[in-house]
Amino acid sequence: MNLPPGRMTPIPTGLVHRAPKVLLHDHLDGGLRPATVLELAAESDYTDLPAADSDSLARWFAEAAYSGSLERYLETFKHTVGVTQTASALARVAHECAVDLAADGVVYAEVRYAPELHVQQGLSLNEVVEAVIEGFGTGTAAALASGHTIRIGVLLTAMRTATHSREIAELSVAYHDRGVVGFDIAGAEAGFPPTRHLDAFEYLRRENAHFTIHAGEAFGLPSIWEAIQWCGADRLGHGVRIVDDITIGPDGKPVLGKLAAYVRDRRIPLELCPSSNVQTGAVGSIAAHPIGMLKDLGFRVTINTDNRLMSGTSMTREMELASEAFGWGLDDLQWLTINAMKSAFIPFDERLRIINEQIKPGYATLRTELAERIDAAKEGA
Ligand SMILES: [Zn+2]
Repeated sequence: MNLPPGRMTPIPTGLVHRAPKVLLHDHLDGGLRPATVLELAAESDYTDLPAADSDSLARWFAEAAYSGSLERYLETFKHTVGVTQTASALARVAHECAVDLAADGVVYAEVRYAPELHVQQGLSLNEVVEAVIEGFGTGTAAALASGHTIRIGVLLTAMRTATHSREIAELSVAYHDRGVVGFDIAGAEAGFPPTRHLDAFEYLRRENAHFTIHAGEAFGLPSIWEAIQWCGADRLGHGVRIVDDITIGPDGKPVLGKLAAYVRDRRIPLELCPSSNVQTGAVGSIAAHPIGMLKDLGFRVTINTDNRLMSGTSMTREMELASEAFGWGLDDLQWLTINAMKSAFIPFDERLRIINEQIKPGYATLRTELAERIDAAKEGA
């Protein structure tokens, strides 16, 4: 009856928003503010936008993303990428990304984007990377000035359907001391296995660099297997289809296949993105999302936003939805947050510092506050 405050559910409204959060999988071009898309379009004479005010544009993005049509989903990125082809536009969206994540309680984020998509109007790859680093710098400073401490590490993404992965991998190593913490490949999985980019991954391993690979989202186990056993990925972007290697035994208990056992036992982090998986049809609903089972089985699960604009979401919302669906209290959310921080690509001592100085004290404060609310309610009863 008297559960400790950290296990109480539902978590009262407002508390999750204030909880310290860690985000490992968020796309810069998937998180623009609708009003910014409009303003950048006006500045750059971009005339293809499907709506003229920010409310209808936000609605259009959500509808296109939930339409079940891949063409419409991809069109959303055509617009966000289309309006971010100059250094000032890139710096602005990075600045706003830092401010928005910090206001949502995120204390550490790894934000990714593909530099090769932002060179349509003549920027060099280096200019793209530098503009984004500058924007994160000013955004982080602005967040601090309004009382929110956030650190952002950049991941440079190469498109798996293209042939620039080695070049982008080299770029990520070149900027390692200036805010880039890792590398990723993204884009359509089917027909584009990660092993097409082995050259890039082998280069990164020789450089002692970190990388994650989008694998096991729409496409299944072979993609996950290649990402880990051939490419040597530190983490899996999504990786949700690892459940295809888990069966239910005659006693009703889950049985892990060899690959699933390897992923769990090696503590390979899964960058799970519940709303995004529902949106792309990889999973039927949040309640049906394997994150609940994977957490129970002891996988290194983390919770992420993927594309905040397209999914109309935030870290607070993803955590609230999961808490509601799986009966998770503050203790569970802290566990997920520490999992994510342990899996970050920044040095170990810096991860520990964020865990000990921001995450644990932040959750302790919320638990104390919840205990006081419970006591006050008892006294009032
Ligand atoms: Zn993604």
